[in-house]
Amino acid sequence: MKVLIFGSGGREHALAWAVKRSARVTEVVCAPGNGGISQVARCIPVNLKDVDAMVRLVEAEQPALTIVGPELPLSLGIVDALQERGMRVFGPTRAAAMLESSKGFAKQFMQRHNIPTGNFAVCSSAAEIVKAVEFFHPPIVVKADGLAAGKGVIICLSRHTAVEAAQGLFTGALLGEAALQVVIEEFLEGDEVSFLCLSDGTHVAPLVPAQDHKRVGEGDTGPNTGGMGVYSTDDLLEPAMTEWILHHIAQPTIHGMAEEGNSFAGVLYIGLMMTARGPQVLEYNARFGDPETQALLVRLDSDLMDALESCVDGRLSKTELRWSPGAAACVVACSAGYPGSYKTGFPISGLGPAAQVPGVQVFHSGTAQVGGQFLTAGGRVLGVTAAGDSLKEALDRAYQAMAEIQFEGIYYRRDIGHRALKS
Ligand code: AMP
Repeated sequence: MKVLIFGSGGREHALAWAVKRSARVTEVVCAPGNGGISQVARCIPVNLKDVDAMVRLVEAEQPALTIVGPELPLSLGIVDALQERGMRVFGPTRAAAMLESSKGFAKQFMQRHNIPTGNFAVCSSAAEIVKAVEFFHPPIVVKADGLAAGKGVIICLSRHTAVEAAQGLFTGALLGEAALQVVIEEFLEGDEVSFLCLSDGTHVAPLVPAQDHKRVGEGDTGPNTGGMGVYSTDDLLEPAMTEWILHHIAQPTIHGMAEEGNSFAGVLYIGLMMTARGPQVLEYNARFGDPETQALLVRLDSDLMDALESCVDGRLSKTELRWSPGAAACVVACSAGYPGSYKTGFPISGLGPAAQVPGVQVFHSGTAQVGGQFLTAGGRVLGVTAAGDSLKEALDRAYQAMAEIQFEGIYYRRDIGHRALKS
């Protein structure tokens, strides 16, 4: 069978690699894809903001299943458009994807369904913010309501700076686009855990847990990025805690969405803060995380296609996900300057020797292939991913492979997973 994947990053490279391992998959098409993805899939250019063009592509290719990687086309209704035409697609509808595309909707939804999350206020004017901040103790978290690629969260040390930040979001001075709503939140402290689960709209199947590193600098310093690295081990969450999260957070979310008429089928990413008063939801994403997906999929022993199709066909309860014990880690190599401005077009060397390191898969986030040579083509360039019997082995393998890779201005954090190694 033929599978079509929308997206162009490391997440989509890992998805393409994993679905291709399924015995039933004969061809993978990725739109638009990237240099690395073109090694496992036929890449076709498409604009991920243009739902009509994406629909035309699916109509022309007639895949047995379409998988939507990034949030933007989900929030624009690509799943609704394909379903209306009777095409099988993995991902939530536009209304269900509001769990990610509107932070205000997500917070109010959690309140309606008693899902644990920090205190908050959804405001639609600066005047409302001025009143609302009085009910919060600094630090105060200020967020733009819509999709902001990880850039819409500001942690403010005083009420005054929270009001200023909110004004910056309302006027568009901070993100370039004016926010219609701003959410202010209680600041939560603890360890963050990424809890992803598959759903067919009714049932929930958790993936193994992961912890990502969002800040650009070692020791979790500097600005937020799309993700600098991630690791996954079973002991990130005790089995009893996984059960608790399933019963009090993941299942109530899926049941609540179904009850409200916005059934959520696809992959739900729940960003959790493990606080002194228990797990609290920081955010939902309506899609696979990047780079979480890279680390999770190298641990998946069962067939990813079976799992994704069972979500689309409403038979997830009959599907078993099997994981290799041990651990996985993904270390992201990025261009000098990221997450600010950076240059692209530099040749990448050492990919061959890196791939020879046992347990390693090098997933491409932002590369182009020109005349047989891979060039840098994005801020995040590669996700060097490794599985191992222990976290130490996975990290050693990833860093051993990373040492083989060179391009001008290469930067990566050398402390991915180190906090877990010490504990
Ligand atoms: P979000 O886009 O909502 O996931 O936020 C991005 C990152 O900001 C999270 O992964 C946290 O590290 C941080 N963050 C967001 N909300 C809060 C909060 N209420 N308290 C503390 N940190 C937060």
